[in-house]
Amino acid sequence: MHLKVAVILVAAGSGERLGAGMPKAFAPLCGESLLAHALRGVFGCGEVGHVIIVAPASRLDQCWEIAGHNRLDGEHPHVDVVVGGMDRSASVEAGLAVLRPDDGIVLVHDVARCLAPPDLFARVIQAVRAGHPAVVPGLPVTDTVKVVDAGGRVLETPDRESLRGIQTPQGFLREVLEHAHAHPCGASATDDAGLVEQAGGHVRVVAGDRRALKITSPLDLTVATALLQDGSYAG
Ligand code: C5P
Repeated sequence: MHLKVAVILVAAGSGERLGAGMPKAFAPLCGESLLAHALRGVFGCGEVGHVIIVAPASRLDQCWEIAGHNRLDGEHPHVDVVVGGMDRSASVEAGLAVLRPDDGIVLVHDVARCLAPPDLFARVIQAVRAGHPAVVPGLPVTDTVKVVDAGGRVLETPDRESLRGIQTPQGFLREVLEHAHAHPCGASATDDAGLVEQAGGHVRVVAGDRRALKITSPLDLTVATALLQDGSYAG
């Protein structure tokens, strides 16, 4: 059966570390909001039938406006805009609450990774369709990573070969994601796949994409601006 794909685009964060004086999703990057860039990646992947933008309560009208401007001709995914929660996980759950009955595959994507190209979405969807119930994009880690205690003492240096930096969009069979959010076990997870792992589920890594960098600090905005300006971004 060809399952339909929904994307929950979490965009309700305050973005304080970015220092733009507004929620991060609405900060400008080369003259357009991060949300507008992110939607271009989502809409550009022709396989998405439903897009749920999870936003700050004060910005719902602006989301509708941005979504309207960035739809591609001929592509008409159904769009919902809903109010986010206190933390990222609550915002994902606000998106889960408005899934449509026939949404069978759900991708969760951070607006902060607004330059994730359409082919990254397609790769994640393809892996879920190929039989992996939970799929995350990941990149080899180039820094050496160390585990440290609260005092800064190094406890361990994991083998770098086995490490991946994990990005979004993360893709799931709908019931797997719903179950992981409904029955969280253990410490809080910083991503959705982490919840699936805690529930004993298997997660598969596919190749990530450097363009899906997470925009957190002003320096990240500078890097993203350079990517857009030199043509490296072809999304
Ligand atoms: O804070 P952090 O950078 O980890 O946020 C990751 C993503 O989660 C961002 O896209 C942000 O907009 C979103 N988020 C959210 N609701 C919150 C907190 C974060 O949608 N309450």
